[in-house]
Amino acid sequence: MTKIGGVTLEQLKNTYQTPLYIFDEDKIREQCQTFKKHFKHPELKTDVIYASKAFLTIGMAELIHSEGLWLDCVSQGEVYTALKAGFPSEHIALHGNNKTKEELDVALQFKIGVIVLDNPYEADMLMELVNEKHIPKVMLRINPGIDAHTHDYIKTSLLDSKFGLSIQDPSVISMIEKLVKHPFVNFLGTHSHIGSQILEENSFYDHVRTVLEFYASIKEKTGINLTEVNFGGGFGIKYLESDARLDLKNVLPKMLEEVYQIKTRLNLAVEKVYIEPGRSIVGEAGYTLYTINQVKTTINGKNYMFIDGSMNDHIRTALYQAKYDALVFGKEDLKKNRLYTVAGKACESGDIIIHDILLPEVKPNDLLLVKSTGAYHYSMASHYNRLTIPAVVFVKDGKSKVIVKRESFMDLLSHDEHLV
Ligand SMILES: *Cc1c(COP(=O)(O)O)cnc(C)c1O
Repeated sequence: MTKIGGVTLEQLKNTYQTPLYIFDEDKIREQCQTFKKHFKHPELKTDVIYASKAFLTIGMAELIHSEGLWLDCVSQGEVYTALKAGFPSEHIALHGNNKTKEELDVALQFKIGVIVLDNPYEADMLMELVNEKHIPKVMLRINPGIDAHTHDYIKTSLLDSKFGLSIQDPSVISMIEKLVKHPFVNFLGTHSHIGSQILEENSFYDHVRTVLEFYASIKEKTGINLTEVNFGGGFGIKYLESDARLDLKNVLPKMLEEVYQIKTRLNLAVEKVYIEPGRSIVGEAGYTLYTINQVKTTINGKNYMFIDGSMNDHIRTALYQAKYDALVFGKEDLKKNRLYTVAGKACESGDIIIHDILLPEVKPNDLLLVKSTGAYHYSMASHYNRLTIPAVVFVKDGKSKVIVKRESFMDLLSHDEHLV
C-alpha cells in the first residue's frame, strides 16, 4: 500500500478529496541539500537559485529559504509571492524576456538581488530608471547557441530563440560595455539557460566552455573581465522507470571544475557561479492523486480510464508529449496486464494524461497516482471548462499539511461581474 511521507494514499483521499497534488517534503529538502552540497568548489563562490516557475506558493518559498537557496522569479506575481513569504529580496533574481517598466521599478524599489536583462530595450529602460540611491546588480541573458538534446518546445538556446541575445550578435559586446560604464549599474556577467530536462551531461560542460570562451573574447575586445556567471537550470529528472537520471553528485562538481580550469587557462576573473535548477528540485517529489471515475473500451478495443482530473492540472502530456508512470493504490503488486489510456474530463481530445500504460485491471473508485508531477503541473494549471484547481498538500513524517487550499466554485466566480 503506497505511502508518501508516511501517509497512505487512501488517508490523503479521505482527508482532502481528489484530484490532489501531493509533495514529499523531505524529498524536496534532500534535493535542495544535494545541490547546495555538490555545487561547491574550493576556489569559487557559488549560489543555487531555485527557478520558482516550476512550483511556487508561499509555503514553497518558505521551504526554499529555509534550505538556503535563492529564488528566480519571472513576474511580479512570483516576486509578490516570495516577498509575502518573507523571502529576502536580496536573494531573488528577476528574469523574464519581456519585463515592463513597472516590473523593473518594483525590482529597484524592493532591492531585488540580481536583475537579468534580456535585450537592449530592457537595458536602456533600466539604465534610465537607476539612480545613485540604489545600484542594482545586473546580468545579461545571452544565448550561447547550444543544441541541448531535449524537446523543441523546451530548447531555449538556439540562435532564433526568444530568450536573450546571441553571442554571435555583435551588439552584445557594446551593450556590455554600456552597462559596465554606467555609474548606477553593477554589471556582474552573463546568464544563459540552454533548455530543460537535459539528461546528456556533456551539454552542461559544452555550455560552460562556450560561455567562458565568450568571456575571453569580451576581455580581448574590451578589457572587461567579468566576475560572475549564471548557467541556468535544465537538469533532467526521471519520469519513467526506464529513464536515466542525471548524476548530480558527479555533474555539479565537474561543471565547477570545468569553470575553474578554463578560467585559469584564459586568465578570467570569474569568482562566482550560479545555477538555477527548477524541475530537478521538485519534479520527483511531487505526485498527483486521482480517482478513477469510469472505464470505457472503444469498438477498436482501446481501454480508456477516465479520471477526475484533466489537462487542467496536468498539461505536460498535451504540451510536450511528456510520458508518465503511475500506479493503482492497493493493486501495486498485481500483474500489469491491461493497456490503458488515462484521459481527463476536459472537452478536448488532447486531454490525455498518459497515452499507453500497462496496469492491473481497474474499477471505478480506484485511486491512480501519477508520479513525477512536482514541476510544471500546479504552476501550469488552468481553469479550462471552469474546472477548479486541486489542493496542494505537503507530507512529512506521517503528517500532511495543506499548502494551497482546493478552489471552490465561489473562488471560481470571485472575479465575475454581472452584465446587467
Ligand atoms: C525555466 C528556467 C530555469 C529552470 O529550468 P529547469 O529545467 O526547470 O531546471 C532556470 N533558469 C531560467 C532562466 C529558466 O527560464
